[in-house]
Amino acid sequence: MNPSIADNIARVRAQIEAACQATGREPGSVHLLAVSKTWGGDAVRQAHAAGQTAFGENYIQEAVDKITALRDLPLEWHCIGPIQSNKTRLVAEHFDWVHSVDRLKIAQRLSEQRPEHLPPLQVCIQVNVDGGDNKSGVSPEELHALAQAVAALPRLQLRGLMTIPEPAETEAQMRAVHAQAKALLEALRQQGLPLDTLSMGMSADMAAAIAEGSTMVRVGTAIFGQR
Ligand SMILES: *Cc1c(COP(=O)(O)O)cnc(C)c1O
Repeated sequence: MNPSIADNIARVRAQIEAACQATGREPGSVHLLAVSKTWGGDAVRQAHAAGQTAFGENYIQEAVDKITALRDLPLEWHCIGPIQSNKTRLVAEHFDWVHSVDRLKIAQRLSEQRPEHLPPLQVCIQVNVDGGDNKSGVSPEELHALAQAVAALPRLQLRGLMTIPEPAETEAQMRAVHAQAKALLEALRQQGLPLDTLSMGMSADMAAAIAEGSTMVRVGTAIFGQR
């Protein structure tokens, strides 16, 4: 076994714990999603041997091949990349979670195509909080209507929001964007949606995201190395 993946996971987990302690949060309240895109099954096996069970993937076909090859392990697979209409069936059949729902049409297809023998697909809506151009994600203005419609779909379970902030220059700017995402989640909860997930924070902005209420950080490079 390559010791570095295990070492990296231990280091990232320690960083998560430190960020939780710094802001008075329970260490168990922030989940680590290991982003394994572009890495092969061997790397995922090493991460699993180090205690990691949740993995994030961006490219659907690559992910499906990996998921199929790793069926012998009890892993949880999260789709975090853009989804074209012609890929929804693969996603519905192979993943446990989708973080990147940003259109009702995609959500409807995922619900229709989710196989009966599997539990509901766990989903987050991707929201474009800071309005970056050419970025996927629903605008904050359109979020409420989309969230209500997605929550009503029978084979999906809406869990929360996902966001990918633009790189910011200062810690304060970063935290302001994270705080906006948290406020959007709280507003949806006020409307009666039972949401518990805020997928935000990557290697560079993990501590800021945790300080503002992230419940799931998505880390690739710091675990597996440069892609
Ligand atoms: C690639 C990716 C990550 C992980 O990024 P790293 O810089 O490798 O830690 C997290 N979230 C999304 C949506 C990604 O596409």
